[in-house]
Amino acid sequence: MKNLSRIAEEVTGSPIRKMFNIADRMTDVISFTVGEPDFVTPRNIMDAAVRSLERGETHYTLNAGLLRARQAIARRVQQELSLSPDPEKEIMVTAGGMEALMLGMMVLLDPGDEVIISDPHWSNYPRQVQMCGGVPRFVAVREEEGFVLDPREVRRAITEKTKIILLNSPSNPTGAVMDRDTTREIARLAVQHDLFVISDEVYHHFLYDGAVFTSISSFEGMQERTLVVDSLSKTYAMTGWRVGWAVGPEALVRNMVKYQENVIGCVNSQAQYAAIEALEGSQDALHRMLRTYTDRRKTILDGIARIADLSCVPPKGAFYCFVNIRATGMSSEEFAMELLKETGVVTVPGSGFGCAGEGFIRLSYATSEENITRGLERIRRFVESRRS
Ligand code: PLP
Repeated sequence: MKNLSRIAEEVTGSPIRKMFNIADRMTDVISFTVGEPDFVTPRNIMDAAVRSLERGETHYTLNAGLLRARQAIARRVQQELSLSPDPEKEIMVTAGGMEALMLGMMVLLDPGDEVIISDPHWSNYPRQVQMCGGVPRFVAVREEEGFVLDPREVRRAITEKTKIILLNSPSNPTGAVMDRDTTREIARLAVQHDLFVISDEVYHHFLYDGAVFTSISSFEGMQERTLVVDSLSKTYAMTGWRVGWAVGPEALVRNMVKYQENVIGCVNSQAQYAAIEALEGSQDALHRMLRTYTDRRKTILDGIARIADLSCVPPKGAFYCFVNIRATGMSSEEFAMELLKETGVVTVPGSGFGCAGEGFIRLSYATSEENITRGLERIRRFVESRRS
């Protein structure tokens, strides 16, 4: 039998699968791994989807998505980013942020083109780049600098093959939020070296301690070279609906829509009606959820501060803590694996997010206060047992 494609053979699976397989066979497990809200989608959004079914809106939509959904996105983008994209040409509805990222890379990358990505990073990025025949080029971000990219290092990573700088602020896994000056510097580099930027903004509602989100698309000369990726998954607790969007220059979006036509045709139509309600309906549930994340963040940070040998730079965004475990002397994989086997607490080793994630574990606080408190108590006992 002939081989699978070279690319398919080379793309690796998730390095954290092993942990989940072990956790699956255990009882009394407390998980800090979930990258999704534990809330159910707000009622008004679910009702809008049900009403669309009852009206018989069960057909294909346009490849770019329902025009009403794109108009709702355009209004949202106008309010939040001060951009005025044309909903008919510069916006498309995608199956989550993930599909927007993938289609963007498929349209932008030729084999061998390089994409600059921070290290640590959301682990799907390099695999998506590889699936498009591209080459990820990592730029390390450091705890001392709040895990924010250093524009000088980004500049050093640029070669004649660089095509895209991929940004993710607020970041998964570190919770870092890129400040305005750094964002402006990176925009300058993109213009100077004629690069595209993909700006993954799926966590931009999750901000703490007065942090301010700046979209790189808002800087001079950036609108024509930025693909903004956003999603309802995290913001409205809608991960299972698979609905998000991409906003970008017309030629890029037009070609992404062409690919959409050949990949999924269109996003599930009920999810699109739900999206309209999420964007245009009451925002009360969103504000309630955001307040809950703020409380949970405080609980988890206070708990970590009470554990000797662990520390954490307070994350300014998203719902993750990237906890420094170096003082325990264990590698991040050792720490996570032994913690799991001995206490039933599941965490993600930082090394799963890139080499620079070694020495850290990621804790998601998209889980109940009770789980956070019980889980941290187990972590505290585990770390203390290693000290004695
Ligand atoms: N970007 C980041 C940084 C994420 O963490 C995720 C999901 O975990 C996504 C994009 C994709 O989310 P979705 O496809 O559900 O919108």
